[in-house]
Amino acid sequence: MLRNSVRKFSYDAIIVGGGHNGLTAAAYLAKAGKKVCVLERRHVIGGAAVTEEIIPGYRFSRASYLLSLLRPLVIQELDLKKFGLRYHIRNPSSFTPIRSSSDSLLLGLNMSENQKEIAKFSKRDAENFPKYEHFISTIVKAFEPLMDNEPLDFERSLNKRLAQLYLLYNTVKPLGIANIADFYELMTAPISKVMNKWFDSDVLKATLGTDGVIGLAASPYDAGTGSPSPRRLLRKNKSNQTHQPGPRYCKPYAPRTFLSISKDSFSGFSTSNVY
Ligand SMILES: Cc1cc2nc3c(=O)[nH]c(=O)nc-3n(C[C@H](O)[C@H](O)[C@H](O)COP(=O)(O)OP(=O)(O)OC[C@H]3O[C@@H](n4cnc5c(N)ncnc54)[C@H](O)[C@@H]3O)c2cc1C
Repeated sequence: MLRNSVRKFSYDAIIVGGGHNGLTAAAYLAKAGKKVCVLERRHVIGGAAVTEEIIPGYRFSRASYLLSLLRPLVIQELDLKKFGLRYHIRNPSSFTPIRSSSDSLLLGLNMSENQKEIAKFSKRDAENFPKYEHFISTIVKAFEPLMDNEPLDFERSLNKRLAQLYLLYNTVKPLGIANIADFYELMTAPISKVMNKWFDSDVLKATLGTDGVIGLAASPYDAGTGSPSPRRLLRKNKSNQTHQPGPRYCKPYAPRTFLSISKDSFSGFSTSNVY
């Protein structure tokens, strides 16, 4: 059935995979007036960022659980709020129970409450926590503007790279010389080293250090796992969790999805005959 339907139309672009990136690319192409076909092998779109009804009546984030890496610029340009994007603020942001103890660590948006919680385990950590958060947020603030720009292309002539180099210079400048060594360490060291430098208590190190390894097949002792810490703050700044109600093209007997997106229309159906 789909073969015939696809043959009937012609497309400017066909995107294989209806995950977060495929859908974003498709939406931008459609916005630019292109006719786009998205092919998804599952019965539901969203990829690792999917919200899915695993138990009837209950919807879960199956993998990605925070709206963090989706750039605000994309949300704005694709007018996602108009299409149903809603934020659910994540507060408390983490709860770390301790095995064989009734103690636990609860962190949220309120710094003085956080410090009280942390002080149960270490007074020094409670004092250092706001300093650590400030350090990470300085780095995030400096680097965030770079995320919406093209990466530096070293194949280009210096003349063409000057504007990008100037942006990079302006980005790094506010970090100041004093922070450069710490920044280098954060980007290259294992998260365990970063945590040991700032904190004493295992429960806090485990809670914050998780960000170094989440979504990675890496241990906290692997080099480079410190670098996702700024990503945590990008998340925390927004502290959002989303459950996007968006369209579901779900038929239990037909686990394949076909979407046709153009500037003015959006249609989709599931079929077992995509291939
Ligand atoms: C456990 C986990 C937790 C995460 N947590 C977060 C988080 O909290 N916040 C965050 O911002 N990011 C998080 N991420 C990362 C985020 O989920 C990914 O960056 C994002 O989903 C990548 O999107 P994608 O479209 O590139 O790929 P995917 O999401 O993997 O989508 C690929 C899609 O293509 C489909 N596909 C593949 N092959 C074919 C084929 N041959 N034909 C048709 N369809 C095909 C797949 O079924 C899938 O739907 C997490 C990732 C994981 C694994």
